[in-house]
Amino acid sequence: MILIFALLLSSCSSPTHQLVQQQLFTFGTLVDISIWTDKPDKANLLIQQLSADFEHQHNEWHSSKKNSLLSKANQQLQQEQTATLDASLASLVKLAIKLSAQSEYLFNPAIGQLVDLWHFDQLDQQAVDEIVEAVLPPDKKQIQTLFDMLSSELDLVLTDQQGSLHNSLQIRSKNPAVKLNLGAFAKGYAVDQAIKSIQQAGFNHALVNAGGDIKAIGKKGDKLWNIGIRNPFYQQQTDSPVLASIKLNNNESIMTSGDYERYFSYQGKRYHHIIDPRTGFPSDGFHSVTIVHKDAALADAAATALFIAGPKNWKKIAKKMAVDQIMLLTQSDELIISEKLKPRLSIQNKQLKTTVVKLD
Ligand code: ADP
Ligand code: MG
Repeated sequence: MILIFALLLSSCSSPTHQLVQQQLFTFGTLVDISIWTDKPDKANLLIQQLSADFEHQHNEWHSSKKNSLLSKANQQLQQEQTATLDASLASLVKLAIKLSAQSEYLFNPAIGQLVDLWHFDQLDQQAVDEIVEAVLPPDKKQIQTLFDMLSSELDLVLTDQQGSLHNSLQIRSKNPAVKLNLGAFAKGYAVDQAIKSIQQAGFNHALVNAGGDIKAIGKKGDKLWNIGIRNPFYQQQTDSPVLASIKLNNNESIMTSGDYERYFSYQGKRYHHIIDPRTGFPSDGFHSVTIVHKDAALADAAATALFIAGPKNWKKIAKKMAVDQIMLLTQSDELIISEKLKPRLSIQNKQLKTTVVKLD
């Protein structure tokens, strides 16, 4: 889970409106919900409901939680049985399949067993931090065996039950190496859902920040929500905790995938949690990828996919996934920013070489 540190930089006051804000720990990260409102009691009640929703989604959609709906489905898949997904998981999985194809399977939610070999998802962020020097990379033979079994696509067969009473979905696979892991985009999807719930409850000004994966509606008072993207070099090279900041428009999200959030070091090499399905190893594509888009689930999947696509292929995958507001931090610590995003970004870390790139 990404823990890009988002700073809410704007502040203002209004005689009737106030900021109602609560923080919870879920999805393996801190989730911050802020609502700008003149109905604080109603907003507080809603946030409690949203907290319960997040917790429920995290418990049911996690591939490493023993009795989650996804774990049960995975057990059935591994036994080559048909798994029936309930409506909420069904729409999540359908979207994951669509985005995965758009990403040329660089975002590949079927490589859960491969991801498991690297241990990241069994641990929460704090645990990873604590054992940063203690975890070993998996045995190469184990990686190779799984890698050889997995296809370059998804190996899933769907029986769409749309129109049935519960909009459920049946899936099966002939490949026992297939295991669904929705970690690369479930958080974005949950953020989209939370914003929808906030709107349905009648609030027009809010921000949901799930460990730096953020979506906003409306404004905070008379100012747009101002978001700081965490500077991964902070502590070492500069004194700014923020790499760049951006004002989000209504119904817009910003998602980041970075190699500095979940990792361990072994014999001087850093192993992080974004796995390249073409190698079975952590991707060496970029340091981080940030995407701005109205659809948080799409932006989340795209951030992961572009990260893996790397310097050679990111433009092609961006086009296929229809994202055009992109900031990439390369392995050699240069910033590449798409032409469309550049005028909106205020770069705080002036030491970095920055290149603006036009997407065809
Ligand atoms: P975060 O969850 O920190 O926001 P990402 O969105 O990039 O970061 O997702 C990384 C998570 O997605 C990993 O922890 C793992 O569970 C899963 N994952 C890793 N590699 C892939 C991949 N190539 N395709 C799909 N999911 C992946
Ligand atoms: Mg992602």
